[in-house]
Amino acid sequence: MQSSHRGRAPPLWDPTHRRINVLNDHVRTTLQQLAEQSLRRALSPLESATGPIITYAGRPVILLSSNDYLGLATHPEVVQAAIAATERYGVGSGASRLVSGTLPPHASLELDLARFKRTEASLVFGAGYLANVGVIPNLVGQGGLIIADRLCHASLIDGCRLSQADFRVFRHGDCAHLETLLRRRASNRRTLIITEGLFSMDGDLAPLADLVVLAERYDAVLYVDDAHGTGIMGATGRGTIEQFSLEGRVPFHMGTLGKALGGYGAYVVGSHDFVQYLLNMARSFIFTTALPPAVAAAASAALTVVEREPERRNRLWANRQYLFNGLRNQGFRLTPTVSPILPVLVGDAAKASAFADRLLTHGVYATAIRPPTVPDGTSRIRFTVTAAHTTDQLDAALQAVMLAGRETGLL
Ligand SMILES: *Cc1c(COP(=O)(O)O)cnc(C)c1O
Repeated sequence: MQSSHRGRAPPLWDPTHRRINVLNDHVRTTLQQLAEQSLRRALSPLESATGPIITYAGRPVILLSSNDYLGLATHPEVVQAAIAATERYGVGSGASRLVSGTLPPHASLELDLARFKRTEASLVFGAGYLANVGVIPNLVGQGGLIIADRLCHASLIDGCRLSQADFRVFRHGDCAHLETLLRRRASNRRTLIITEGLFSMDGDLAPLADLVVLAERYDAVLYVDDAHGTGIMGATGRGTIEQFSLEGRVPFHMGTLGKALGGYGAYVVGSHDFVQYLLNMARSFIFTTALPPAVAAAASAALTVVEREPERRNRLWANRQYLFNGLRNQGFRLTPTVSPILPVLVGDAAKASAFADRLLTHGVYATAIRPPTVPDGTSRIRFTVTAAHTTDQLDAALQAVMLAGRETGLL
């Protein structure tokens, strides 16, 4: 990927010994460079299910890194729905959705999502990443213009790249900057504005009401990624668009099934025609195997729980306030978060990693988020809290965070 190597880098498919040695050198130096910058990543396998307490490196620790905000990944009813669907429909769907991979759980889930979101129709994708790279190129193409919030998720950026439209960013949440960019373009240019509803790495909300006004005023299309808002934001958990009372003014949007809904997959909701357009055009929908029936059935069950048990959301928000107050009172610097995503800013990647290591020593699992996931110099520990944490667990976690913060010189 290094531009200095481009042009003279060997084709990776060349099987000769010499070529392989060149590739091996590249692999080694890349890993070395990442390590030197404290940016090398590694898998950290858990030894248990996800949940408020996990087993890691042979002992129980408190998990503050999961997006399973409502604790639905292990909810008995959701698990049971997956088991029942597997028994009835098997493990795999056997084909892509348009061939023979649309089984009853897929069709039911799409009806359930459209009903939950109060839209005409919905389309389920394999994952949020796939939804974004599949949808965006079908909203705007070559010659068009995309203006995205600077903190947009990598899957949105990749969708923009695939679209081949011109790409600009506006400063995070800054509608005045966005408006400047909108004014500057040729007015007949097909334009797409992209934002997350609830920002995944900062925990703050997009100024959705203002974005809708700007999109209307400048005749642009607004694409909202509500991966983190789905299930937790809004009075009934329908997401950030419900939160801002904008249903009806945002004709379509996407969200995921892998965060608050506890499973895996993603959806786009919108009009019947729009869904038909996407299922004909979105390559990441067409050319991939349908979700396993168990995963689709689990998502339907999760939606039922979200609607039936608002107390889970209440507990989530109470826990969120508790952990937020605790972190702030200890003197940590947080992003302007309004959600269960509670990022403590560290800055330096090495220091963020050291903080995470100390946290683990004291019994808290919370990973350091470093570039390129977040901008340079804004490495952080992204704490997340869920409805499943008890107050005792949060007290223990706060104690550990304080110790680790002192040991890393953050406090
Ligand atoms: C997690 C996430 C995605 C990707 O969703 P997956 O289902 O995990 O592929 C897309 N957008 C945002 C904002 C996310 O946080």
